[in-house]
Amino acid sequence: MLVKDRKRVALQWTEASMKMHTESVRQTLFGALSTADKKSAFRFDLTTQKLLPPLLAATSYDNSVRDLANAGSELFNQLFLRNGSARDLLKEVWETAGQTMQFVRNDPDYAFPWTLIYDYPIPKASDDSPLLVCNGQSQSGAACSCGDNPPGYCVRGFWGVRHIVEQLCKARQHLDGKPGKIATAPTVPTVCVIPFVTDPFVDGLISKIRGLNQDHQIHNPLPKMFPDSTRDIGSRPALVVFVGHMEEEVTNYGLRRPRLLHAGKPVLTLADIVSEIRKYGEWDTPRSLILLMACGSAASRVDTGTSLAAALLQLGAVGILGAECTVFTGMASRVAADVTRWLFQGSTMGDAMRKTVANLAAEGCPLGLAFTYLGSADAVLPK
Ligand SMILES: [Zn+2]
Repeated sequence: MLVKDRKRVALQWTEASMKMHTESVRQTLFGALSTADKKSAFRFDLTTQKLLPPLLAATSYDNSVRDLANAGSELFNQLFLRNGSARDLLKEVWETAGQTMQFVRNDPDYAFPWTLIYDYPIPKASDDSPLLVCNGQSQSGAACSCGDNPPGYCVRGFWGVRHIVEQLCKARQHLDGKPGKIATAPTVPTVCVIPFVTDPFVDGLISKIRGLNQDHQIHNPLPKMFPDSTRDIGSRPALVVFVGHMEEEVTNYGLRRPRLLHAGKPVLTLADIVSEIRKYGEWDTPRSLILLMACGSAASRVDTGTSLAAALLQLGAVGILGAECTVFTGMASRVAADVTRWLFQGSTMGDAMRKTVANLAAEGCPLGLAFTYLGSADAVLPK
């Protein structure tokens, strides 16, 4: 279901087609963000977290935008052709920017990479000269002047760069109240970073967050202390940032069990979250906003069962930021630092996400689109 300005349109996909397209777009994402030997195609400076020039040819940015836009355009074409009743709304979405688009899922596991839909028409290219790629911003940092019918590819053609995409879930969605305790209880840890890996990028992220505001405490518990560290509503942090490795154990019967690892051992599994809800119930307000910066943390499919992200929403998180596919810590740390900075400056989570993706794309990396936010786009940190 797509909702815009109180207009609601039910969107139709078959389960098989949804699975196929989701998988295809995730493979394109991973192809764009990794090199042939499975290293990150985008490099970041350890201290400043700024994007470094690519090791390979300078065209890798253009190529990754072209690949992603082609995949995103296929998603759009399917959506357009299958949903005649949504065409007026899709036209409005195409011609505008800065809107909030709300998707309501019937099933918590029906995650879909809406931010990757590319709805600008792609002109026909001649064989010997590939279409030009625009990074979406002018020199001054304002939006580029391509318009909705660009001469080549423009990153503003992605819904996640041009609009705020909100993904809610019918099953259970906690939309009450703002996350956390930042202003009300300055002596408690208000931002909680839980590093499952220690590497220079994670250290850089922690020092960036510490530098945002001296008054806001940052707490660094051991991974095995979650969810205990968030149980007490008097000290539940506004923002929980996980950085680490997620792995899916696939059983002989093809069942997938997502879990977060620390030093090779599982420290957060679906069973841990079920046990927490059974023993202590779901979180009441104030809820935490969770950045789950781990590989494939939001990569559930219609056939994979509940993801960790969906389970944490059931526990009571106001929203979860996760990754659609395997990501590298440099990029995950940069995205987490930028989203946190915008949140501290008062942005809503939806807008923080859109600005993070758009600025990273303008700087030379379109792969902020590998991160998906599930939950209320209006979530803000309390002042
Ligand atoms: Zn442009």
